[in-house]
Amino acid sequence: MSIADNIKSLKKETDEIKVKLLAVSKTKPAEDLQQAYDAGQRLFGENTVQEMVEKQEQLPKDIEWHLIGHLQSNKVKYIAPFVSMIQSVDSIKLLKKINKHAEKNKRVIDCLLQIYIADEESKFGLGFDEVIELLRSEEFADLKNIRIRGMMGIATNTDSEKQIKDEYYELKTFFDGMKVSFFRKEESFDTLSMGMSSDYKVAIEQGSNLVRLGSTIFGGRVKKTV
Ligand SMILES: *Cc1c(COP(=O)(O)O)cnc(C)c1O
Repeated sequence: MSIADNIKSLKKETDEIKVKLLAVSKTKPAEDLQQAYDAGQRLFGENTVQEMVEKQEQLPKDIEWHLIGHLQSNKVKYIAPFVSMIQSVDSIKLLKKINKHAEKNKRVIDCLLQIYIADEESKFGLGFDEVIELLRSEEFADLKNIRIRGMMGIATNTDSEKQIKDEYYELKTFFDGMKVSFFRKEESFDTLSMGMSSDYKVAIEQGSNLVRLGSTIFGGRVKKTV
């Protein structure tokens, strides 16, 4: 199937159940993104600042760009003028940097806290305790130019559907708890980003409302990039 066909069928599948579809376009050329755009896709995810900036310059300006890869503090400035959401926030230090550059650009930048749920040391993210510590801190309370929209998690890369299901269930439960404890009055705390090509159906069953799909839309990638 073509990129356009993939987008159309996935959009239909996710729109019906009010799940947002993020097209993860890392390593793919701008032409591929344009095809997805022409089929109606507007949310695109990249995992490096450099690729996002290059593609943002070439592609239509109404695309909403989501950063999903590890972000170094010193690179925030390059995406702060246009990025729609940073899904990979994993420290208060990074959050402060995002806030600073959002302020410079007279913006409020939407962020997700990336939560460590996998059984793999290589993955980034905050532990449950660290999230609570961050949300309680005075440093966090001072940040006016970021808005925490929710959480993002990457499950273990495993064939065990049970393990993936358990990890997503835990994250959904934690998300609900944090919403009650810290974001009761904020309706904008509404996004739970879980699920990639291999496991998005399980993720949706467990309560995801934003799935991040790469290879299902654009085909396989040559390089391993996660
Ligand atoms: C690459 C990537 C995806 C998409 O992976 P696919 O398996 O191609 O769907 C989703 N989330 C993150 C954080 C990624 O880095």
